[in-house]
Amino acid sequence: MSCTLCRLPFTPHKTSVDPYPPPPGLLTDRQYRYFINGVAIGQYLPTVLLKVEWLDQGFFGGYTGAVMVLKWESDGGTVMVFHTVCASILRRIFKCEDESNESIIKLCEIEFILGRPLQGLDGGRLPRVGYEDVGDEKLDLRPYYYLEEHGDLMRFDYEMFKNNGHSWALNKPDAFPRFRNTVAPTRFPGPPLKETTDILTKQPIDILHVLLPYLPNPSFVRLLSTCRTFRHAALTTFQAHARQRVLELGWAVPLSGEYASASQSIREQDIMVDPDAPPFDGDWLFYLSSIHKSQSLRARRRLWAIGEEIFHAVEEHRIASGYDEAISTEDTPESRTRKQLERHVGDPLAATLRKLGSLKVGGRS
Ligand SMILES: [Zn+2]
Repeated sequence: MSCTLCRLPFTPHKTSVDPYPPPPGLLTDRQYRYFINGVAIGQYLPTVLLKVEWLDQGFFGGYTGAVMVLKWESDGGTVMVFHTVCASILRRIFKCEDESNESIIKLCEIEFILGRPLQGLDGGRLPRVGYEDVGDEKLDLRPYYYLEEHGDLMRFDYEMFKNNGHSWALNKPDAFPRFRNTVAPTRFPGPPLKETTDILTKQPIDILHVLLPYLPNPSFVRLLSTCRTFRHAALTTFQAHARQRVLELGWAVPLSGEYASASQSIREQDIMVDPDAPPFDGDWLFYLSSIHKSQSLRARRRLWAIGEEIFHAVEEHRIASGYDEAISTEDTPESRTRKQLERHVGDPLAATLRKLGSLKVGGRS
């Protein structure tokens, strides 16, 4: 099994009767627990959208008022299943974070337009999506999957993955660096020099305000640490530039749902950025530097890039897919049209079952 967004595996839940966990020591307990849970999406599921746990041996388990078992692979493809954060990022990028029928239809459209996720060693992978071409690392997970001996179950070689230096990708992608709501006095380099003679630091501050937006993030941070005058300005006047850079990245702050589910004490201490009301004060320069050092956010940045790749693939293939046709044609049977999907998602029984499933609190990790 693999997640349809990040293509990383799931770990078996403790209720699995025949689990095949990763070798000991390769994942922390926290990572292991994170990789158990997912969200399955598909118009052929009775609920269309379902929170699930990996039970291993080709099955996910979910809850719709009663326990439900979902076979991941079947004739013609696999079910779209996403790790929890992968699902949240995808929903953000597709602008369908609420539970309305319109939002759920948008999620189901993905496999209508691109085709169902593939089977075998490509299990979970959406056709027409260049998973290996995105992000800085262009991480290719295909060499790490193999089929179980005497079986057709897909397994992941954690050991080789780690030995090849890719452990960073297994970090829990919602562990954000601490945000400092004030600039620590120790960060100041002492008073700025009174007399400067070099051409850059003699420029009026407002010229620098104009220049800074044109610099990429690494150059921005480097320039502002070149001398005491700049560093002082970076920690005061130019914090607004750092703030804007962080917020423009998208992946660098929590989603509204992630912020809401953080503990009350974290929110009260202002050590996590509220994405709906990001503070104007605070050490944004420090945060900008922290997010580029964090291994969790390195993993998250990759998820974000793949989410955008899926979004562009859907946009690119929408017209050719015939999905938006109101009636079925020879090339597009009714089962693959938007009209049919709207009927299915709007089914009162599916809506009731979704509600029952969402009432269950959290994952049973
Ligand atoms: Zn994932």
